[in-house]
Amino acid sequence: LEPKEEFEHSSLAVDVMRPRRSDPALAVLTQDGMTVGEVETLVESTHYSGFPVVVSQESQRLVGFVFRRDLLISIDNARKRQEGIVSTSQVFFSEHAPSQPPDAPPPLRLRGIMDLSPFTVTDHTPMDITVDIFRKLGLRQCLVTHNGRLLGIITKKDILKHMAQIANRDPDSILFN
Ligand code: ADP
Repeated sequence: LEPKEEFEHSSLAVDVMRPRRSDPALAVLTQDGMTVGEVETLVESTHYSGFPVVVSQESQRLVGFVFRRDLLISIDNARKRQEGIVSTSQVFFSEHAPSQPPDAPPPLRLRGIMDLSPFTVTDHTPMDITVDIFRKLGLRQCLVTHNGRLLGIITKKDILKHMAQIANRDPDSILFN
């Protein structure tokens, strides 16, 4: 067993992940049911590098992860080159297109740009293990779950800030250099 002090100082993924209690909710996409316009609004109203994709807002069950850059490029391309893609077109990340009314515009399939197995840790994973995973796998972000429900996200910068707080040192001087 580790000495008692180590336990007292060790933090868990839940202590480092965003959002904090006072932050706005995690910005997620649902695997279907959102329109091109809604996805664009979400992406443009935030500066995050990526968005988890979930089955539904209610379930928060993780399906994958998409990068902001890929979303913007794909939607832009589809609007220019794909017949019938407009703001009210449904976006889907699921395998099959959701059923739609006959007069609906064609849906936009974005499954191809989604990472289907983003790295995840549970909320109770100790940060020393999480840091090890980041370093060994060269991760830039990692999702945090509890009982299969998506809770939050940890980026490399979040870890650097956390370590800097603990060590009270310049974030760039530790861990990843
Ligand atoms: P970085 O941490 O490198 O600046 P981001 O710009 O993606 O990367 O994230 C900025 C902050 O927002 C980080 O603290 C991160 O944990 C958080 N964050 C990242 N993605 C999301 C998201 N989809 N919803 C809510 N918060 C997020």
